[in-house]
Amino acid sequence: MAIGLTLFAACGVETAAPPAASPSVPGTTTVLTTLPQPSSAPGAPSSSAPPPPPTTGRPKTGKVVVLDPGHNGGNSGRPGEINKQVPAGRGKTKPCNTTGTSTNSGYSEHAFTWDVAQRVSEALSAKGIRVILTRQNDTGVGPCVNERAAIGNDAEADAVVSIHADGSNSAGAHGFHVAYSAPPLNAQQGEPSAKLATALRDGIRAGGFPTSNYLGANGLAPRADLAGLNLSTRPAALVECGNMRNDAEAAAMSSEEGRQQYAAVIAKAIADYLAA
Ligand SMILES: [Zn+2]
Repeated sequence: MAIGLTLFAACGVETAAPPAASPSVPGTTTVLTTLPQPSSAPGAPSSSAPPPPPTTGRPKTGKVVVLDPGHNGGNSGRPGEINKQVPAGRGKTKPCNTTGTSTNSGYSEHAFTWDVAQRVSEALSAKGIRVILTRQNDTGVGPCVNERAAIGNDAEADAVVSIHADGSNSAGAHGFHVAYSAPPLNAQQGEPSAKLATALRDGIRAGGFPTSNYLGANGLAPRADLAGLNLSTRPAALVECGNMRNDAEAAAMSSEEGRQQYAAVIAKAIADYLAA
């Protein structure tokens, strides 16, 4: 399909889902609208941590991190659901979700974000940090961006980190950046979110990944148009790990070793933020 450049989209070439080739089959997939579940999703790396307590009324004894792997594997097949307009903050609406981008050889952003989120979850869980994921597999639809924000809010998360990868066809475009809500709509979107974004920027850069040469400045991007950030009442940031259309970054993202490197630096940055 045609790829358009959208400067202010979370992922440069995110496209809306194509029209369905055939009517969707009812009952095969449902949009996730349930409350946050424990991070031990099917297929997730094993964890020896016991099942976490329910979010409601939890004692404030440990840190909680919500990881939000961008998009979902079933989005492209359910355009009616993911193109539905939902609240995006600042009085605007946006499509429920998008399909995300991919490398030129077809490795998808949703698979990348899912895999990296699993690895970050494993690393944080090993430190005793409770992790909640906004989706439980890479085959479902959604959840919508506003529902993802609600998961972080309802969990009273100490940090909410969305994981994405960009898809710019601009020549030479490469590098990561971290977005945060600006101007802030509440206190948590102010200094806490800016600090979280900065910790992620510092950690990912220290891990050897170059900052973006085409979006943001010095690896940071204050944004007013990202629904998940606008709707968050918790410290929140969105990492665009790199450009999937850049050959070198596509190679890293397509390899387990590369994904582990991304995950390790993201997990360390989150832990550093929580410990600060
Ligand atoms: Zn994305």
